[in-house]
Amino acid sequence: MNVYYKSTRGGEEKVTASMAILKGLAEDGGLFMPESMPKLEISMEELAKMSYQETAYEVMKLFLTDFTEEELKDCINKAYDSKFDTEEIAPLAKADGAYYLELFHGSTIAFKDMALSILPHLMITSAKKNQVEKEIVILTATSGDTGKAAMAGFADVKGTRIIVFYPKNGVSRVQELQMLTQKGENTSVVAIDGNFDDAQSGVKAIFNDREFAKEMAEHGFQFSSANSINIGRLVPQIVYYVYAYAKLLAYEEIAKDEPIQVCVPTGNFGNILAAYFAKQLGVPITKLICASNENKVLYDFFQTGTYDRNREFLLTSSPSMDILISSNLERLIYLSCGSDAKKNAELMAELAGKGSYTIDADMRAFMKDFEGGFATESEVSEEIARVYQDTGYVIDTHTAVASAVCRRIRAQEGNTQKTVIASTASPYKFARSVVESIKGKENKADDLDYIDELHQLSGVEIPKAVEEIRHAEIRHHLQCLAGEMPQTVRKILGF
Ligand SMILES: *Cc1c(COP(=O)(O)O)cnc(C)c1O
Repeated sequence: MNVYYKSTRGGEEKVTASMAILKGLAEDGGLFMPESMPKLEISMEELAKMSYQETAYEVMKLFLTDFTEEELKDCINKAYDSKFDTEEIAPLAKADGAYYLELFHGSTIAFKDMALSILPHLMITSAKKNQVEKEIVILTATSGDTGKAAMAGFADVKGTRIIVFYPKNGVSRVQELQMLTQKGENTSVVAIDGNFDDAQSGVKAIFNDREFAKEMAEHGFQFSSANSINIGRLVPQIVYYVYAYAKLLAYEEIAKDEPIQVCVPTGNFGNILAAYFAKQLGVPITKLICASNENKVLYDFFQTGTYDRNREFLLTSSPSMDILISSNLERLIYLSCGSDAKKNAELMAELAGKGSYTIDADMRAFMKDFEGGFATESEVSEEIARVYQDTGYVIDTHTAVASAVCRRIRAQEGNTQKTVIASTASPYKFARSVVESIKGKENKADDLDYIDELHQLSGVEIPKAVEEIRHAEIRHHLQCLAGEMPQTVRKILGF
């Protein structure tokens, strides 16, 4: 069965998966959604025996139906190889009564690698399939992790260029150094004077600018996106939820058909939406716990039915979740109103205009499997210390948001269902916050000064990604104001 993709705002004909990947965002500003939701074609028992790569094929073929078996397997095998430091690709660590699904074993040590190590291959394959002659320019806004992971994936990939915008004061030192030292002639990084929402809105505005697109075409370029709005990111992220369930079964941690819940530290709502898609495929997931940091716009939304971005943007110790406009929520909104694109477009227009919208009772009922929670800065810090003291396991600040929320909800509700917590970054990426949570404030000059101490505490080998930036040369120096993003893109591309 062929799956086609439609815009959540309705202003466009349906397209194939490969076209949706190339376009990134629909021309009407909406996001692409599969017209129908597939189901897994093989049993969990069979999946339990499969490798990550085999599982990836079983899941991704259901969504990317215009890719041949050979094309898809080729993309998968090129993505999930020795770039990952474990053959399991996404191992489960059992600690403190939960299962931490470690999604940070790729080359940039954050969960973005799970999708961004395959997106470049999906993109080039899609370009070939659709006879695209122009050079593809990947334009990306990052809250710290996407930028590096996307550049690592696209660096020196023929026929592509990548431009990353990040908030100057909104990322950790390790994240910033990872980006600024990125190699590859086709990579550019720009620090903007603004926050992540400014970067993301700026990128979306460029995508939606018809005149800009024409100008690009005249110079032999076309845009695409590596942000989580691209279905080429969403689909690979579904894989690890299927894989995690199958592995729990294989290790006899759960019985056949036993329901589990997932808890996901959330920013742009991409990772948790992938878990929701896994549930639709047939994985017995009951509840999806959406964990926010102090930027708790999603918690308030699930609590009240009103999404309201009119609030102060806070900088927290989990910068990759410092977001007030969660783009992928639009996909859930669209589904919750019965795929009514007109209704969804109206709500998104309200968000763009007055910064808020309210959904009706039916839509809220549709979302009953989602539960919001949030953790304050001190709760995050206490959670890191507590898990370490009780178990010796060290988690990063993002994972700690989910861990704290999960523990509180379970205690409140006397809920004993087995829970998979998405562990989205290596603690080495946020070494200062992690070490100071465990040992108290040390106020060392540089974040990198905490690396060796973290190694002593955790006993976990220092990842290559961290060793590399200690001595690498800074290659990128561009900065601009949020309002200057279009001119900056022109300058980088030379027109
Ligand atoms: C991106 C990111 C998140 C948030 O994921 P979303 O898909 O945007 O909800 C959480 N933790 C880390 C470490 C990230 O890099």
